[in-house]
Amino acid sequence: MSDAFLKDAARLLGPKGLTAEPAEIEPWLTDWRGRYTGRALAMASPASTDELSRLVRLCHQHRVPIVPQGGNSGMSGGATPFDSGRELLLSLRRMNQIRGIDSASRTATCDAGVILQVLHEAAEAHHLRFPLSLGGKGSATVGGLIATNAGGTQVLRHGSMRALVLGVEAVMADGSVLDLLTPLKKDNRGFDLKQLLIGSEGTLGIISAATLALVPTIAGRVVMWAGTSSLHEARSLLLLAQDMAADQLEGFEVLPQHSLDAVLDYLPDARAPLADAHEWHALIELVATDSQTAARLPEMAESLLGTALHRGLIADATIAASEDQANRLWLIRESISPAERAIGPAMQHDISVPVERMPAFVEAVVPRLEADWPGTRAVCFGHLGDGNVHFHVIAPPGQERSAWEAGDGKAISAQVHDLVVAWGGSISAEHGIGRLKRDELARLEDPARIAVMRAVKQALDPQGLLNPGKLV
Ligand code: FAD
Repeated sequence: MSDAFLKDAARLLGPKGLTAEPAEIEPWLTDWRGRYTGRALAMASPASTDELSRLVRLCHQHRVPIVPQGGNSGMSGGATPFDSGRELLLSLRRMNQIRGIDSASRTATCDAGVILQVLHEAAEAHHLRFPLSLGGKGSATVGGLIATNAGGTQVLRHGSMRALVLGVEAVMADGSVLDLLTPLKKDNRGFDLKQLLIGSEGTLGIISAATLALVPTIAGRVVMWAGTSSLHEARSLLLLAQDMAADQLEGFEVLPQHSLDAVLDYLPDARAPLADAHEWHALIELVATDSQTAARLPEMAESLLGTALHRGLIADATIAASEDQANRLWLIRESISPAERAIGPAMQHDISVPVERMPAFVEAVVPRLEADWPGTRAVCFGHLGDGNVHFHVIAPPGQERSAWEAGDGKAISAQVHDLVVAWGGSISAEHGIGRLKRDELARLEDPARIAVMRAVKQALDPQGLLNPGKLV
């Protein structure tokens, strides 16, 4: 059966589009975090929607399961095949054309395999920008970003992929092409199929292209750093920034002193932004898209920090005096994950609770976990304004990684997830469910919600060929 399929697929895709060579496939069989390694029947790399559609039709005919993969930068193992060797690894990376950028409508239409950084550069050439960025931007593709509903540090102002995808084109399980590319501001023709596909992690359809919203390029920015004594005060600072800077507020990230210390140890050239240690730090960015507003940004920033100091929300603050200093402040934020990783094994959770509850959640849960698991340290950092923090629990010193992760680490994750659910939150705010959290989703999610998700999956992919064993 698989020989017949491979023969037909080779005829359809040619030597560039299909390989069963272990050396060519192997780099794509392990996920970015190195947690999972699988095997694949072959790796297919169609070059167009038409080829993709005909390939999926073949898979449907031969009942070959498909694992879609973009840049393989996902954090939940969703793009890694299992080790049966029966699944086809479907790379979208050859579908990498930007079909067009329309300055008048401020939209970009591109193939699923376009890399985020390439999209940024193409938009920039039209004096526009795609306002979503993340650490994996050199690998992550438009299709993967849509399939995981990716976020990042600009969600506060521009939203996650759900808000930025205006249209999609997708190949469904039987090979049919669903063309929803034309952006319509108002459209009430029943179910919102585009939103159903966003965040579906390759389990309902294969994204082949998308129309994305662009925004004007930045005329100026101001980046600030403030030290504060509690997360409640950081949250009050955020509300103040939203009141005083309104539309200019582009980013608001928080980190504890522990994370700053970890980065200072990790990056030899990094310097502490403030003279003293503080329980919490906030990184704030204001941007303007016109030169008049850009000229007023420094005054706006001073006024914001002055008011915050006066109200006792912050103890100290600094404003980056140059682009170089601004980049150095952002580098600290972007280096937290690798710096924490360098300390030793840690269980990493990507959680959200209702925005206004986040400070109380962190204050209640961090000491409880550290007490229940002596020697561990719980560290939260990230997108306070989105009610989403990266919640890492670092192992006690001297633990062997895989043994700790499989034992205490697993129990700690279950406890973190239980607490998140008890606080009305989500066990996946950014990275998706994939393979990593599938069982936890089934354990913790409302059965009614799981039943609806399974019914949708069954209706759209009755043979269970699209990314089986992931998400639901
Ligand atoms: P892959 O890893 O290849 O796939 C991810 C999932 O999408 C899989 O389930 C796969 O089957 C499916 N998929 C891929 N392409 C398609 C397609 N065309 N059609 C259907 N399904 C498809 N994520 C955030 O949200 N916020 C962050 O701040 C963030 N920071 C990161 C920092 C670093 C350093 C790294 C490495 C990753 C980070 N990520 C972040 C995670 C990652 O970049 C995103 O999940 C991204 O969306 C994955 O894109 P990808 O093309 O690499 O997808």
